[in-house]
Amino acid sequence: MPSEFTPYQIDHATYKRFDQRNICFSRPKWDKSFIAYGRRIYQNAPQRIAQGLRGYSKDQFAALTAAWHIHDIVPRIGPSEIILPREGTFEDYNPAGPTPEQNSILIKKFANDLGSPDVGTTRVNKDWIYSLDVQGEPIEIDQLPYAVVFTVPMDQEKLKESPNFIASTAVGVAYSKCRFIAQSLSEYISHMGYTALPAVNETGLSVPLAIDAGLGEFGRNGLLINDRYGMGVRIAKVFTDMPLAQDSPVNLGVRKFCTKCKKCAESCPVKAISYEDNPDGRFFSISNNPGAHKWYVNVDKCYKFWTFNGSDCSNCVTSCPFTKPNTRTHRMARGIVKRTGSLNGLLLRMDNWLYGRPTSRSRKQS
Ligand code: SF4
Ligand code: SF4
Repeated sequence: MPSEFTPYQIDHATYKRFDQRNICFSRPKWDKSFIAYGRRIYQNAPQRIAQGLRGYSKDQFAALTAAWHIHDIVPRIGPSEIILPREGTFEDYNPAGPTPEQNSILIKKFANDLGSPDVGTTRVNKDWIYSLDVQGEPIEIDQLPYAVVFTVPMDQEKLKESPNFIASTAVGVAYSKCRFIAQSLSEYISHMGYTALPAVNETGLSVPLAIDAGLGEFGRNGLLINDRYGMGVRIAKVFTDMPLAQDSPVNLGVRKFCTKCKKCAESCPVKAISYEDNPDGRFFSISNNPGAHKWYVNVDKCYKFWTFNGSDCSNCVTSCPFTKPNTRTHRMARGIVKRTGSLNGLLLRMDNWLYGRPTSRSRKQS
């Protein structure tokens, strides 16, 4: 049954499909007006290692690089290279064909087996598909109207080390697992007689696809807040023509909680996250895509910080009261936030008391 909850508002007079060349990871290569033009994320890593700072050692950088390896080496697949149905595997399987609901159950079960705890299925809203890829090639995937979207949790103990190499290793491990699961799910779908296109951050915007698939809500810093792990997850997806059931967006009470809580904004070393109580839709650069009623993040400042830091950053992720291990106590607290917003102030004070107010842990920019 469709949910009454409206997870986001889009002004369709303004909103356009996003050109992937405008993400902050692409702009250093072509956009001379970008504040981090020509700068690479890890360019200051040797300098940080030489400083002998905790969490910035040579072996920790080796671990970081190895953690990202599988994510980085698997070739990105474009719509022209989709994984086609394997001939001769489906005809005898079930001539009548399973229902979309049965397909979704099978897909979710297999994704669980591969290591994803949270899997949702949705029809693809074309608004979330990039207009052009990083090479400037148009992306049209109308022939794949369904998506399987899934999360991979990150090691929260390591993430707490942000913004050093140890935290980035946890991020890299999760992204590499995303690749493995997306590829394997695509193979599974092709052996079931359908077409599949695996994607991690390519092809389309993961956060709104995950919201549509019922995996969580967006937070003040634009990332997905998941019911079990808060922001401590990475997202990937598989587009397909296998008919799948439509999951409903979930109301976790995040929007209301964020209006009071600004811990992610406080934790940011470069003040890239909004302090406005309510989403104001104010955007900063071409890396933001105007037209969504949300708090836009100044991702230019964020990326520039990463390049000075010598590694990526997860301060905003770890400071979030929703990013906690999936224990009974935390499930109870999340349950209260979901059911009533009236105790948000108290829960926030408890979070501050137990886990502290964030500090904008950062390396000196040099
Ligand atoms: S990743 Fe770090 S620098 Fe970027 S917005 Fe979050 S806290 Fe700020
Ligand atoms: S830290 Fe607070 S304001 Fe930021 S996303 Fe999490 S709940 Fe919302």
